[in-house]
Amino acid sequence: LLGYIGIDTIIEQMRKKTMKTGFDFNIMVVGHSGLGKSTLVNTLFKSQVSRKSAGWARDEKIPKTVDIKSVSHVIEEGGVKMKLTIVDTPGFGDQINNDNCILLPWPHAPWFHWEPISKYINEQYEKFLKEEVNITRKKRIPDTRVHCCLYFISPTGHSLRQLDVEFMKRLSHSVNIIPVIAKSDTMTVEEKQEFKQRVRKELEMNGIEFYPQKEFDDDMEDKSDNDKIREAMPFAVVGSDKEYQVNGKRVLGRKTAWGIVEEPTNHRSLCALARLLPRSHLQDLKEVTHNIHYETYRARRLNENGG
Ligand code: GDP
Ligand code: MG
Repeated sequence: LLGYIGIDTIIEQMRKKTMKTGFDFNIMVVGHSGLGKSTLVNTLFKSQVSRKSAGWARDEKIPKTVDIKSVSHVIEEGGVKMKLTIVDTPGFGDQINNDNCILLPWPHAPWFHWEPISKYINEQYEKFLKEEVNITRKKRIPDTRVHCCLYFISPTGHSLRQLDVEFMKRLSHSVNIIPVIAKSDTMTVEEKQEFKQRVRKELEMNGIEFYPQKEFDDDMEDKSDNDKIREAMPFAVVGSDKEYQVNGKRVLGRKTAWGIVEEPTNHRSLCALARLLPRSHLQDLKEVTHNIHYETYRARRLNENGG
């Protein structure tokens, strides 16, 4: 899915700008446990990597994620290199089960849930800052900063969980958030439309700024382009972990009561996500990360030191 989408168009778009230097793009997946984050990461790299057989067993079961873990894949074509990294995170709830210690669940200790993720994001800013202020600084600073955070929302059809609201509110100040509806194959088209609308309303009511943030619309044209994207949000995603035989072809997909959801072509919303990420907005996500989120972090840090 994300991977499938991306490569050709990403390369096409980036060629002009980064002919020699190459570039990094980092995506982080966040959300409650069991929503298919690891599956999505796996799907992406499996579809990309399996041809070269990078050691993924065909029907390997995805273990529960207990640490923040990143997987990178360098794509090189026509002399342009892109290092795509996906940062997988433990779902909320996972840590609680795995620690063998009793921790109070939400809402008693909300910090417990976002602290490790927040920490990871800030650590990458810190790393970049250190390189930047270094006298003998590298010609090109390796960029591990999270350019985009896919926030997985449970496909309940009801409202957002309070934890999701709090979490996104927090995170939106330090990273670009793209909310997605997890396991969207479990909802009908109508349910999805209704749920999307409800989620958008709740995000707005709670003052959560997701990407593309309204406050950064440059002009009317920008605004009308971005409005279209905002109206399609949250994107619906489906992760697939198995290969199926469809019309004599082996495809990555997910078997449902209605048949096999083939990746990635059958999913409109997914294509929207695809279009959003690589095409027009990949560079923009990087720029917002650098000019807004990183800058905010940097200003705060320099204040601490100089003040
Ligand atoms: P994580 O905790 O968010 O990393 O979730 P996992 O990727 O470990 O997936 C949890 C379970 O959900 C697994 O049994 C997956 O096969 C299943 N799953 C993952 N993605 C989807 C999806 O898009 N649709 C459906 N119906 N199930 C999914
Ligand atoms: Mg996981």
